Amino acid sequence: MADRDGLIWLDGEMVPWREAKVHVLTHTLHYGMGVFEGVRAYNTESDGTAIFRLKEHTDRLFRSAHILGMNMPFDKDALNAAQKAVVRENNLEEAYLRPMCFYGSEGMGLRADNLQTHVMVAAWEWPSYMSPEAKELGIKVRTSSYTRHHVNITMCKAKANGNYINSMLALKEALDCGCEEALLLDNEGYVAEGSGENFFLVYKDTIYTPELTSCLDGITRGTIFELAAELGYTIKEKRITRDEVYVADEAFFTGTAAEVLPIRELDGRIIGSGKRGPITEKLQSMYFDAVKGRRPQNRDWLAPVAK
Ligand code: PMP
Repeated sequence: MADRDGLIWLDGEMVPWREAKVHVLTHTLHYGMGVFEGVRAYNTESDGTAIFRLKEHTDRLFRSAHILGMNMPFDKDALNAAQKAVVRENNLEEAYLRPMCFYGSEGMGLRADNLQTHVMVAAWEWPSYMSPEAKELGIKVRTSSYTRHHVNITMCKAKANGNYINSMLALKEALDCGCEEALLLDNEGYVAEGSGENFFLVYKDTIYTPELTSCLDGITRGTIFELAAELGYTIKEKRITRDEVYVADEAFFTGTAAEVLPIRELDGRIIGSGKRGPITEKLQSMYFDAVKGRRPQNRDWLAPVAK
């Protein structure tokens, strides 16, 4: 990742990709206190290359920093402009963007005093998180032996660097077992989310998703609420058990990277027909139309990167 051409925005300046470095005593590297976003830009039919729901991602980045008590040295406008600039100046038609705020090497220790918050934004081509077939056929998922974070152990509403140890352990376990993703339960045993996705199921023509208690407030999740409403569905937020998932008619994950991803199997139990269900398919195609600029009514979700 480090040895390539391009530009990374670091603390207000465009820096050559290979020179965008930090010291080994960078505080966030030691203790994981940092916040980040995962954002995508698509080549749209209406607006050229545009960042999907940029405002919502930047708002969440600032909420995450606020929750962790990190000072932000830039305002939202500066961060939005930086994200557009990295896509534009790296000549990317479609991109995955990674803004991150981290503590520098000004000091060490848990007191975290006298530290400065540094901000970076990188962008690169990352076309598909899963195989293209997975979007149609769905993926195999395994209930994780790792519990999702508890609200009083870490701050679940913050997209915080350190939170992702839990996600990585769960994903590795699932991959090692021949599955493609993990489903994490909360500390009471109810379905929470995937390692990097929110979860939905369809049962008897109703769409359900877990309450947000210990899940990330996903921007794709919010988008699905709006798209489902247009189809006449009010999504019900409720506690979901793993056996409710086994007998669901359809299930899917949502996330910026995963987009709308059908789940065909959980713990060896086939879900519904064992492939993408009709409601999943409808929402998925509406989502792809929205990100690709084919829905004029959702044009305000697109932030064109052209100056
Ligand atoms: N949950 C977790 C733990 C995540 O990391 C992500 C990805 N950011 C999501 C859910 C989905 O969020 P979004 O739709 O905003 O990408």
